[in-house]
Amino acid sequence: MIKEIVKDDEILSQPCEKATEQDNELVTDLLDTLAANEEAAALSANQIGTPKSVVVYLDDNEQPRVMFNPVLKQALHPFKAVEACLSHEGEVEVKRFAWINVSYEDLVDGKLVPKKIKLQGWTAQLVQHMIDHCKGKTI
Ligand SMILES: [Zn+2]
Repeated sequence: MIKEIVKDDEILSQPCEKATEQDNELVTDLLDTLAANEEAAALSANQIGTPKSVVVYLDDNEQPRVMFNPVLKQALHPFKAVEACLSHEGEVEVKRFAWINVSYEDLVDGKLVPKKIKLQGWTAQLVQHMIDHCKGKTI
């Protein structure tokens, strides 16, 4: 279901709870809402009103990817980026890393399976923005 994007800082500044297998419906809502917002390349669950640690983003081939409970494990090559956010007006300068190693969980046949991924460039930046959202941090 397409949800409305949350812009309330009080909601967005709350750290998200750990997501579980029960949160599979949330994935559908996130993907539907991401597809409905053409300017969006990523979305976190608290941006659609559910404070759980689930995010979606478009990879280098514009394919949607889902992460449960993403955690930044390693980050290299810091740089200053200018980012926008669906939940905020305007653009802000933030510190990001050009190369990251992220651990997360993937929902496979109703079970959460631990995974790792190394990302760089634009997708690395997107995922860092999303991990921040899960921590209740906005740009
Ligand atoms: Zn954002």
